[in-house]
Amino acid sequence: MKQFILVFFSIYSFCLLSAQSINKIIKEKEVRRIEKILSADDMQGRETFTPGIEKASAFIEAEFKKIGLQPFNGAGNFRQEFFMYQSKTAEAKVIIDGNVIADSMVVCFSYLPEAVFTEKSDIELVRINKGDKFGPKFYQYYQSKKNLLVLVDTTFSGQLKSVKKMERLSAEPGKNAVVFVLNNAVANTFSMAITSQLIRKPLNNVVGVLPGKTKPEEYVVFSGHYDHLGISKPGKGEPNEGSDSIYNGANDDAAGITAVIMLAKYFKKLNNNERTIIFTAFVAEETGGFGSKYFSKELAPEKVMAMFNIEMIGTESKWGINSAYITGFEKTDLGAILQKNLKGSAFNFYPDPYPDQQLFYRSDNATLARLGVPAHTISTSKMDSEPNYHKVSDEIGTLDMKNMTAIIKAIALSSISIISGADTPSRVDAAQLK
Ligand SMILES: [Zn+2]
Repeated sequence: MKQFILVFFSIYSFCLLSAQSINKIIKEKEVRRIEKILSADDMQGRETFTPGIEKASAFIEAEFKKIGLQPFNGAGNFRQEFFMYQSKTAEAKVIIDGNVIADSMVVCFSYLPEAVFTEKSDIELVRINKGDKFGPKFYQYYQSKKNLLVLVDTTFSGQLKSVKKMERLSAEPGKNAVVFVLNNAVANTFSMAITSQLIRKPLNNVVGVLPGKTKPEEYVVFSGHYDHLGISKPGKGEPNEGSDSIYNGANDDAAGITAVIMLAKYFKKLNNNERTIIFTAFVAEETGGFGSKYFSKELAPEKVMAMFNIEMIGTESKWGINSAYITGFEKTDLGAILQKNLKGSAFNFYPDPYPDQQLFYRSDNATLARLGVPAHTISTSKMDSEPNYHKVSDEIGTLDMKNMTAIIKAIALSSISIISGADTPSRVDAAQLK
């Protein structure tokens, strides 16, 4: 009897201790410090390929080092570097049916330093006709691996003008050219001479690891994205609001990165993770999810037991404080596991209330979910009414730091049975995804 009381007492005190310790480790003051640095004006909106994103990366690396994380997969540091390739057209001379086409009517996406085509070359002639849906047609041809001359009906002159501003950025330099020409010609004959420049641009995710004690080959990933939209420029969409031109992205997604850093701090202090925990700050989410795509190729997806992607947790969810939603809730039982672990607490995790918005597919979790990983995004963003979403007004002053701290704690507490190996979420059936 005595012994039982002792055991009971020690379990009870352990629970008390862990509840107390989370409050000692995940503190609002520290959450605010990190959030403030990441969303400060001197980060210049953390746009991919700018000094601002370099600064953000250096800050996250320093935090990972301070916490005592290890680099991933034997790397020398926390930077998971890779390259993107940008093609710039230097010159394009296009003649169709004997008529010289003005530069303003031509949009080239070519990876070939020099390319010459005529109607007799290995090139296909296709069209975007009057009445077609421009967007899907454009992307279909834009992503083609063949050489294409795309004749675009002159009713689409506005659309062509806007795609002319696009940069063709790719993870792998292709070997083809796709040329859009605003022209309704028959094109019995044509000739094109295109010179392009291929620019190799470095990028990096920031990845740190806490090796698992007994299941090191089973991974749990916490992630967010550290890039955002940069500084607004004329013609970039939104006009400047007053003198502010910086997209601080305090909620999107400095809030997610703040959570990732705080969770790293917490689990390092606990120092009892049976599974390996990988903390990742993705780059280039806003420009196509290239960071998570690269990350997903650097590990075996079947080793990833769960991925918690955290996006925009700085505002109150539609249910008020102490709540958040999980995208793609029904696709695995990860959400149900988290709900079970939060029973009796003040927090609630709900299924994504904005299914029409396809949020499951719109963030970095999707890349890993397509590989079968139970990978979901946790968010509070009111996607039907969030006033500062993708605006220069997404600043720290609009966030509820107390509630954000509570959500980070909820993520920590609800994920513990997955980190210990007691729970293993079901896999995503990739065949069922869009
Ligand atoms: Zn985001």
